[in-house]
Amino acid sequence: MRKKIIAGNWKMNKTVEEAIELANGVKRELADCTEVDVVLCPPFTAIKSVSDIVSETQIAVGSQNMSSEDEGAYTGEICHSMLKELFVRYVILGHSERREYYKETDEWINKKVIKALEKNLRPILCVGETLEDRESGSTEKVVEVQVREGLKNVAADAYTELVIAYEPVWAIGTGKVATAEQAQEVHAFIRATVKDMVGEEAANAVRIQYGGSMKPGNAPELLAQPDIDGGLIGGAALDAESFAGIVKAGM
Ligand code: PGA
Repeated sequence: MRKKIIAGNWKMNKTVEEAIELANGVKRELADCTEVDVVLCPPFTAIKSVSDIVSETQIAVGSQNMSSEDEGAYTGEICHSMLKELFVRYVILGHSERREYYKETDEWINKKVIKALEKNLRPILCVGETLEDRESGSTEKVVEVQVREGLKNVAADAYTELVIAYEPVWAIGTGKVATAEQAQEVHAFIRATVKDMVGEEAANAVRIQYGGSMKPGNAPELLAQPDIDGGLIGGAALDAESFAGIVKAGM
């Protein structure tokens, strides 16, 4: 049995003051939640404040990106030691917004995944097809390349630590959620790909989140699918009650 994991990706939202309010709201709802792993991923500037608020609760903190380098002349970047110092446990890597706007490639994302695992941070590797990919029938091909390249040279035993987030790009922030069947089909395909890469044990252990307009209303059906092990939540994570509603759907 895989434990469900629900992560809130706050993206470029919330000042420190606003983040404190939201984190306190989530804490009121979910501080003692042990049935589901709960992760908050604020912008870098609010990580310290959010970490302080959720320390001594079951809620973990994640970042939305991480450099593949250790330190040095990389203006604007944040590295693993800076995150670990703030008690960050998860790192979202390869989000479609980073692939699209900042031209992150599979090869680069793979370097980050390897670095995160080496430093005992848990990657949440995002993959997903665009609308154009889906309409041209290349969903599986696109997702397979992102999984194989993103997780290249990752040892089978690391799959208990890492998380894969399937986020169809056409469903992100659009209100157009994939149907439970559409999502389940791709999740099963991703698990089969992992099985082919590193074996059945790792494939059964790895948690695969769905992301893309997940809300309290559609979460129960999505989370009931056999290969959907949680959610990566954008818009609905900006409201404590909505976010908690999704987590409760996973209990
Ligand atoms: P959304 O974003 O829930 O607002 O669609 C999900 C994500 O991009 O992680």
